[in-house]
Amino acid sequence: MSDCIFCKIIEGEIPSEKVYEDEEIFAFEDIDPRAPVHVLVVPREHIPTLNDVEPAQDGLLGRMVLVATRIAGEKDVADSGYRILMNCNKDGGQEVFHLHLHMIGGRSLGPMVQRT
Ligand code: 5GP
Ligand code: ZN
Repeated sequence: MSDCIFCKIIEGEIPSEKVYEDEEIFAFEDIDPRAPVHVLVVPREHIPTLNDVEPAQDGLLGRMVLVATRIAGEKDVADSGYRILMNCNKDGGQEVFHLHLHMIGGRSLGPMVQRT
């Protein structure tokens, strides 16, 4: 996708702080970290939202999670704890429409979602 920020990051057209890459997955530091550790894990393939993941791509989601847990270990938050989350569409707060998961840690994160 020519106008996708994350595709441009994966292609190196937009600079990022790379944390991990393989033939399928790319991970980099979030530009606006919400905690001491905040890494984005994305597939190289442009998939807009979680709703667009096909059943045949279920393994990709598992591998994204495993990459995130491995990075959590490398960043020394595996034992203290961390949160993995994926935002989908408007109510989910998704801002970038290239599938990604957040791995966030390094401080107590409080409740999962604010009560209203
Ligand atoms: P979303 O709200 O879509 O789940 O999360 C998008 C994330 O991408 C946000 O946490 C935001 O800070 C991050 N982000 C947006 N643009 C850039 C960018 O150009 N570089 C990096 N590294 N992160 C970005
Ligand atoms: Zn993209």
